[in-house]
Amino acid sequence: MLDQIDALRRQAETDLHAAGDSSALERFRVTYLARKGKIAELFDALRSVPADQRPLLGKHLNDLRTSVQALFDQRLAAAASHVQAAPALDLTLPGRRPPLGSRHPLTQVLDEIKAVFVSMGFGVADGPEIEDDYHNFGALNFPPDHPARDMQDTFFLNRTALLRTHTSPVQIRVMKEHAPPVRVIMPGKVYRNEAISARSYCLFHQVEGLHVDVGVTFSDLKGTLISFIKQFYGSATKYRFRPTFFPFTEPSADIYISCFVCGGKGCRLCKQIGWLEILGCGMVDPNVFKAVGYDSERYTGYAFGMGIERIALLRHGIDDIRLFYENDLRFLNQF
Ligand SMILES: [Zn+2]
Repeated sequence: MLDQIDALRRQAETDLHAAGDSSALERFRVTYLARKGKIAELFDALRSVPADQRPLLGKHLNDLRTSVQALFDQRLAAAASHVQAAPALDLTLPGRRPPLGSRHPLTQVLDEIKAVFVSMGFGVADGPEIEDDYHNFGALNFPPDHPARDMQDTFFLNRTALLRTHTSPVQIRVMKEHAPPVRVIMPGKVYRNEAISARSYCLFHQVEGLHVDVGVTFSDLKGTLISFIKQFYGSATKYRFRPTFFPFTEPSADIYISCFVCGGKGCRLCKQIGWLEILGCGMVDPNVFKAVGYDSERYTGYAFGMGIERIALLRHGIDDIRLFYENDLRFLNQF
């Protein structure tokens, strides 16, 4: 039986040496070390040898099992570390670039607008998106029967609370909290109860501006907004003011700029007229000052507002406003 033990030891060492991968090592373990393996078979055979030889043979068998197990463990550990080490050592592989996010096109436009006005001395203010009738309409000189108060145009949450339809209520809140002079822009989300289509959505973003002080005139309004147009759209941009009506300003104007696609000749973007409407503005109505407790004999001011989506649509030639809100990476990765 000693010969058998020696033969099995040599055979095991040879086989282990030849086992090249983890599946070969597993086959080795089953063949030699498992409960019905070759070493276990010899332990079974031990029962049929004479009792006086058993202690010595048993010791040899135990030695065999221990040394084969130790050798096997060594090989297994070496194979595992080989598998783990291989990729870390391949210094020729190119690096992996982690996917990076980008700023939303609306955020980019807003950041640029902010940068221009902050450089001209404007602060930035914000206010709640859930408003009441007083801040959204009443204090802004909307008459009680104004159509904007209709349920069809405004999302009412209950009798008194509504989702703001413009950022103008922030003007009221700023003026109620701060005595003049006031010079701020107010960016934010606004909501309108509109049928959703490629051209309109139930929510969009506005930036409004307000400047109130002693002796602020329409010339200040023009100077500030023309400076904005030159910085934001380019110094060659032409502009024109056309009279219009807003409840909260008097006089009021819409500002148009020369179409930056056709330069004024007429194209699809400007609907062949050569001009694009980009913002509304005007001198703050004395009734608004009265509502917030400002002395309208002493103070004057101007206000203006523009839509962020409209600017981004025009700039990038996007023909569907809904793309801004779908968070489709195929769209967002283009900016
Ligand atoms: Zn055009």
